[in-house]
Amino acid sequence: MPWKLRKYTDRLIIHCAATPPSMDIGVKTINRWHKQRGWKGVGYHKILRRNGEIENGRPLDVYGAHARRYNGRSIGICLIGGVQEGDHKKTEANYTSTQWQSLERLIRNLMDRFPGVKVIGHKEVSQTACPCFDVTSWASTLQAS
Ligand SMILES: [Zn+2]
Repeated sequence: MPWKLRKYTDRLIIHCAATPPSMDIGVKTINRWHKQRGWKGVGYHKILRRNGEIENGRPLDVYGAHARRYNGRSIGICLIGGVQEGDHKKTEANYTSTQWQSLERLIRNLMDRFPGVKVIGHKEVSQTACPCFDVTSWASTLQAS
């Protein structure tokens, strides 16, 4: 089955992997997890590793599998991390400084590429804590600078 192209893109949706800080995973692992869910592999378009490296998931212009009702209009970005070490039920924005830097660079890049796009967190469109921080206020500082 070929990838389905999105007709438009008006949201960048930020997620987390809900993994503890010590878990250094990337697109390969998430690809395996999402295949186990019966999807066509990784549902995100970009993955930000603990070391700040940006990995490619799905091609940027196709449907993702990351946010119900929004997959046809958004790009999904996943930060590795998001839960406490030793207690996976406790969420926290435990991203590394290089991840924050990469996220900023990536979002600025995508905002240039998709003019007018809105940056939101998964929790704004779904019953979830993901990505465990207030994306709207983070993104507003980004736009001001
Ligand atoms: Zn999410």
